[in-house]
Amino acid sequence: MNTNLQTPIDYLKGVGPNRADLLRSELGIHTYQDLINLFPNRYIDRTQYYKINQLQRNNADVQIIGQIINLKDAGEGRGKRLVATFKDDTGVMELVWFRGHKWIRESIKLNKPYVIFGKTNWFNGVFNMPHPDMELLEKHEKNLRSAMQPIYPSTEKLSSKGITNRVMSKIMQQLFLETKGRFEETLPDYLLSELKLISKSKALLNVHFPENQELLAKAQFRLKFEELFYIQLQLIIKNLIHKSKIKGFNFEKVGEYFNTFFNEHLPFDLTNAQKRVLKEIRSDLGSNAQMNRLLQGDVGSGKTIVALMSMLIALDNGFQACLMAPTEILSVQHYNGLLELFNGLNISIKLLTGSTNTSDRREIHENLKNGKLNILIGTHALLEDSVEFQNLGLAIIDEQHRFGVAQRSKLWHKNETPPHILIMTATPIPRTLAMSVYGDLDISIIDELPPGRKHIKTVHRFDKSRLKVFKFIKDEIAKGRQVYIVYPLIQESEKMDYKDLMDGYESISREFPMPDYQISIVHGQMKAADKDYEMQRFVKGETQIMVATTVIEVGVNVPNASVMIIESAERFGLSQLHQLRGRVGRGAEQSYCILMTGHKLSEDSKTRLQTMVNTNDGFEIAEVDLRLRGPGDLMGTQQSGVLNLKIADVIKDKNILNHARYYAQTILKKDPSLSSPENKVLRHTYAQLSKYKNIWNYIS
Ligand code: ADP
Ligand code: MG
Repeated sequence: MNTNLQTPIDYLKGVGPNRADLLRSELGIHTYQDLINLFPNRYIDRTQYYKINQLQRNNADVQIIGQIINLKDAGEGRGKRLVATFKDDTGVMELVWFRGHKWIRESIKLNKPYVIFGKTNWFNGVFNMPHPDMELLEKHEKNLRSAMQPIYPSTEKLSSKGITNRVMSKIMQQLFLETKGRFEETLPDYLLSELKLISKSKALLNVHFPENQELLAKAQFRLKFEELFYIQLQLIIKNLIHKSKIKGFNFEKVGEYFNTFFNEHLPFDLTNAQKRVLKEIRSDLGSNAQMNRLLQGDVGSGKTIVALMSMLIALDNGFQACLMAPTEILSVQHYNGLLELFNGLNISIKLLTGSTNTSDRREIHENLKNGKLNILIGTHALLEDSVEFQNLGLAIIDEQHRFGVAQRSKLWHKNETPPHILIMTATPIPRTLAMSVYGDLDISIIDELPPGRKHIKTVHRFDKSRLKVFKFIKDEIAKGRQVYIVYPLIQESEKMDYKDLMDGYESISREFPMPDYQISIVHGQMKAADKDYEMQRFVKGETQIMVATTVIEVGVNVPNASVMIIESAERFGLSQLHQLRGRVGRGAEQSYCILMTGHKLSEDSKTRLQTMVNTNDGFEIAEVDLRLRGPGDLMGTQQSGVLNLKIADVIKDKNILNHARYYAQTILKKDPSLSSPENKVLRHTYAQLSKYKNIWNYIS
């Protein structure tokens, strides 16, 4: 590492103490090295000039040549601002400064040609550009080095204090002058030549001062690869260490419980995907290391049976097992399903939720401790300290996206030796992304639906077609089917949602009157017992219509239900819509999903609805969802470096990520300790990396 890159940023010519403070507080730039790793957000073509009469109201960055003909103060108090009238040969616009008036006023030259650059707004009938990046035309012409001008990350404070993009570029230029643009190579030669990567120095130079498009692309590729590669390397090493250090219970055998169930109780043949995943789990359970596995599978792919059979392996080895689900309804359903499937196997199973009464609860606690109870199903209630097992061998978490990482780790501490953990999620994300985001987990995927599943026909209808939709519902009910009608329930507007739901319920009751039709209603403000009662009526087929809020989103299984109507569908996220749709299509009949919306739809809403109409594939939907929302709220990602990337983007750069992971794996397989001479650079760089949270703080 070049020691001089650790030099505090204050020492760079042109920075000085004030700017250094700003760079530190606004962008976290403390050293030369931090600065070199401040990568441009994007590049703009500075050969393009606009005329004022060509401006569009699209808030894009534009570059204009013109003169300031007038400067005046406007507004009072906090609204006080400096406004310049800026003119070219086609029209006038305004330049506005909310801060730094004095400095601007003193430095601006009236009636001289300037090049201004920035985003324009349309306000009160004129275009204005707040805090423009500006330079006298004659100076600008001398400075122009590259048609592709980098745009650096900035903040409002920085630009108002005069650290404009132009200043940033100058500072960067100075850095390259002082370091002579020579930076230590951080990837081994064989990777550089195999992947045809350009050198570190060349990449850094071209990312900041692109010579041309082609070199810029090469520079970005090299730096993105490097960033993703080292994260992958780190994740894989972490996973290997976890496996060698965290001892787990060794479930040596598959015994009586499992075999009896498999031979005599299993109601269907497992799909190949289910078999493969069971094998993966079995091999983890018998590996001496603690299992920490994520089971991904689309809604209805049959994750539950895999979970249950894994529990039997725990029981076969003399251990207890538990299954935690995010809602009461789901826990009850798992519990009932399990009682039925395991009937005759002589297994003791109990349900523990918030509504379990005190005496039952006491009994459960006791029998868990003395080992009489084999399997416990329940909600968050399982996490309470009073819930102590004699020997918990396997903990399964259903629909993980509802639980946080903290909760996962709480299960860990139910024993001295941590139980094996299996997490199930129906919010699938692309495999490589999953592996890079949930680095400490192994991943299993059920990528095949049980046979005979029919494609769910999905349509988008506007509110005005409601009568036709009602007619359709009647026809389906006449065929003996059942129907869900779901309303949004969003925390912030709970009251309004409740009103929508009740209004909807009323109009549905009018349209589908008793005694011909029976309607269940379930929503979040009901008591658990009432919810369960209503749910059960629907499950038993006593009611044909279930009006509900999203409480039914996860897991509920009523194979006879064939229609899912989603009201205000534009208010749901994609994965939620997909989950809801997954409530139908569980039986042999053709199923339908109808997305109801009003007419006003945002672009994102349209994309979501269109995606739902186009595909039933959860993985495809998840990809669109990620593109729309970014990976920000994937489970447990807060701790993951993947989302604080400096240059790569885990979604857009998926292919580079795949490459990076492949090479990291291959290299570690051959040389797990990175001790061979050809990997010296890797070892050295990795050692530095372990010292820092953000890998770019050390690379260079
Ligand atoms: P999810 O993965 O969404 O949790 P479930 O485990 O609830 O899905 O399974 C959905 C339905 O498919 C259940 O009714 C289950 O009994 C059934 N099922 C699961 N596996 C198979 C299979 N191999 N063959 C036929 N039906 C299956
Ligand atoms: Mg499920």
